[in-house]
Amino acid sequence: MVGASLAGLRTVEALRRHGFEGSLTLVGDEPHLPYERPPLSKEVLTGAAEAGVTRLTSRSALEEDLAVDLRLGRSAVGLDPAAGLLRLAGRGDRAAEAETVGFDALVVATGARARQPFAEPPPGVLTLRTLDDALAVRDRLRSAENVVVVGAGFVGLEVASAARSLGLPVTVVEAARTPLSRSIGAEAASGVMALVRENGVTVHCGRTVRAFTGSPQLTGVVLDDGATLRADLAVVGVGAQPNTEWLEGSGLLLSPAGLCCAADGRADDAGRIWGVGDAVAWRRADGGGYSRHEHWTSACDQAQLVARNLLDGGRRGLTAAPYVWSDQFGQRLSIVGETDRYDEVREVPRDGGRPAVLYARDGRLVGAFVFGQQRLAMLCRRWVAAAAPVHEVPGWEQGARAVTEGAGVPADAG
Ligand SMILES: Cc1cc2nc3c(=O)[nH]c(=O)nc-3n(C[C@H](O)[C@H](O)[C@H](O)COP(=O)(O)OP(=O)(O)OC[C@H]3O[C@@H](n4cnc5c(N)ncnc54)[C@H](O)[C@@H]3O)c2cc1C
Repeated sequence: MVGASLAGLRTVEALRRHGFEGSLTLVGDEPHLPYERPPLSKEVLTGAAEAGVTRLTSRSALEEDLAVDLRLGRSAVGLDPAAGLLRLAGRGDRAAEAETVGFDALVVATGARARQPFAEPPPGVLTLRTLDDALAVRDRLRSAENVVVVGAGFVGLEVASAARSLGLPVTVVEAARTPLSRSIGAEAASGVMALVRENGVTVHCGRTVRAFTGSPQLTGVVLDDGATLRADLAVVGVGAQPNTEWLEGSGLLLSPAGLCCAADGRADDAGRIWGVGDAVAWRRADGGGYSRHEHWTSACDQAQLVARNLLDGGRRGLTAAPYVWSDQFGQRLSIVGETDRYDEVREVPRDGGRPAVLYARDGRLVGAFVFGQQRLAMLCRRWVAAAAPVHEVPGWEQGARAVTEGAGVPADAG
């Protein structure tokens, strides 16, 4: 198992639960035991929870209960699938510790890293992906006076929400004219941006960052129209990049979306290499290209499935609809299924709240965007998994037909 975080850990646990008694090695380049990332941009930033809440397991649970050979602080640097060999670098600068590990099967679970488009940004310009990143942002928030968030994706907006809850002025800079519309459509996106603005965040859309001012400490963010925003903390949240460079030369199929895997999780025909979580793009069940879901639930669902397929040679695919949540400005936002490939959208009104947005293709429900209303989100997950005909979905017929700018472009490998 390469990658000792959510997807790697859940695969190891599932392999043991399904009766695997052979040897298991879990390799991770971070020094930490496996931990959760969702709280990093939420309660860890605000200080409502300590870093310990993110811990997913203990060393003794891994090494004693699951009999895992745990290699933390070790990077995988090369793979030869045919020979069944994995190359590991030494810890830190200890090159002499480099070694080659043999395997019968290997699961790629190396996740993704935050994109950092700025070369050598000054101190005070941070990204957020790891526990160490979150602690650095939290420490800066304690003394910050003006916060700029670059990128209006969900992680960026959660950072904005955390900073606002601490009473700080926050400005979000977003390159797209309509933030989020590519992934969730114009209707849901405008609801999210209304929520963001109502909570006192200034948003500059259609603007990019040209430079940062201040040395050695950040004092401002210069936009492409020449305006300078005061800032002593800037958090860059412009997406994540799969950690797959170590697989180059392995002969496996790599794309910008990650390691390409079949719909049952295999990355090679022999069923020796498998992929789970944010590092990988699985072939869609309809055969139409590969999709990477950077979702907590996808990492867990894929881990369960791969453990079973790997052990019994099954070719099962995922049956649950993808689901991701985001907590911001006191609301839980839920995205279910595909919200970027649809031919019809309806807004289902709700008393005293923002409407849910339902997405359909060829007369069947394929996705939903829900503000709050956890129960509805879970029902939508069931309906989407069952590809429910829209006339059977409560609220669809009464829903206002939304005018979209055409179905979004899937963020996938092709
Ligand atoms: C700040 C933040 C907030 C989030 N909030 C939500 C949320 O609210 N809801 C939701 O559904 N999802 C959320 N997510 C997404 C969710 O956390 C991810 O989908 C999940 O972490 C994916 O797990 P993973 O194990 O595939 O990858 P990761 O968690 O990225 O773990 C991969 C591990 O592999 C290690 N690694 C990388 N390269 C190598 C190598 N060469 N050798 C050895 N080890 C390596 C990495 O350092 C890392 O430890 C959030 C993510 C972030 C960053």
